[in-house]
Amino acid sequence: MSWLEVPADHPFGLHNLPYGSFRTGGESRFRVGVAVGDHVLDVGTVAADLLPARAALFDDGDLDRLLAAGPAAWHHVRAAVTGWLADDGVRDVVERALHPLALVELRMPFSVADFVDFYASEHHATNIGRMFRPDSEPLTPNWKHLPIGYHGRAGTVVVSGTSVIRPCGQRRTPEGEVVFGPSTRLDLEAEVGFVVGAGSTIGSPVPRAAFADHVFGVCLVNDWSARDLQAWEYVPLGPFLGKSFATSVSPWVVPLAALSAARGTPPTREPRPLPYLDDTDDDEQWGLDLTMQVRLNGHLVSSPPFRTMYWTAAQQLAHLTANGACLRPGDLFASGTVSGPEPGQRGSLIELSWGGKEPIELPDGTIRSFLEDGDEVVITATAPGPDGTIVGFGEVRGTVAPAREQP
Ligand code: MN
Repeated sequence: MSWLEVPADHPFGLHNLPYGSFRTGGESRFRVGVAVGDHVLDVGTVAADLLPARAALFDDGDLDRLLAAGPAAWHHVRAAVTGWLADDGVRDVVERALHPLALVELRMPFSVADFVDFYASEHHATNIGRMFRPDSEPLTPNWKHLPIGYHGRAGTVVVSGTSVIRPCGQRRTPEGEVVFGPSTRLDLEAEVGFVVGAGSTIGSPVPRAAFADHVFGVCLVNDWSARDLQAWEYVPLGPFLGKSFATSVSPWVVPLAALSAARGTPPTREPRPLPYLDDTDDDEQWGLDLTMQVRLNGHLVSSPPFRTMYWTAAQQLAHLTANGACLRPGDLFASGTVSGPEPGQRGSLIELSWGGKEPIELPDGTIRSFLEDGDEVVITATAPGPDGTIVGFGEVRGTVAPAREQP
């Protein structure tokens, strides 16, 4: 119970408490905030009074210091915030640090160190394989043996609300001519992102069991993709300029600790993967029951189910460090496009329009195969919380701006 009235079914209920970086109107300085109901709690200001031992973690106004501080600090701060909201005795101090959510400006909540993007939906990988390589098996021979991924571009990860400029690049036309210009097949990818807090030592792989010691929380990701650039450039080294122009993330990072009720068993893997990836006999696996929503210009076009993902984030973490690569605070790795088995569960337009062969009609009568200038994409998600509650992730929103003139 809390002195703060928050409806039990609020996506930012007392059991969620996601972290972000905010400022109120007219302020120059950003502060660390925890979303609770329709408010943002200025956690640093309250910590200065009520949790002085941890108050310095919030001095920079972003999550960087908290991420680096590791799991003991994360749990200490979360327990403290939960306690403040339950304790009538500190109500005055805490209430003064609450700001209406609708009136704050949010920014990128942490400094992205490295960005990695995976490809973990069997349905998405199968659909893409059918379209990009129609004459071969849709899944490559390695797909069920390792979580395929690529290293992306941390510097172009942007927060929700940032416009995405249509990229220019090389593509090959259907007639076989190679040209340079604005992408004509700009797409969205609905994904879930995992934010690394505690780093690791180079040379020392991070096993699945240490997942929660390193990963702080979860956000939503839109991995904007220029399919025409991608199709021309990706052989043999994988995605490059077709992906690196922009990746949008939601402004709130939901702590792993809020997702205990959302954990579940991932799909059965056949063949069984190698031991460092085989979670069959783990006490607790890291399947997560998020349901996502993709809206284009306000219309719901897809509801991807994250629980259908073939590889879990714990397996992805084990794999991306299996060669001794180290983790740093602020590393972000994304799941890969989330697509379920049903057509209405596909997390990209290239799948929803089947490569442009079957354009989708929106309820307002407009037709889309890929994104047009001015289009707005909003991705949201919820997961089950404890005792029948809901854990909301907020949204990742972006509007397509026209391509810039080339020099
Ligand atoms: Mn992607």
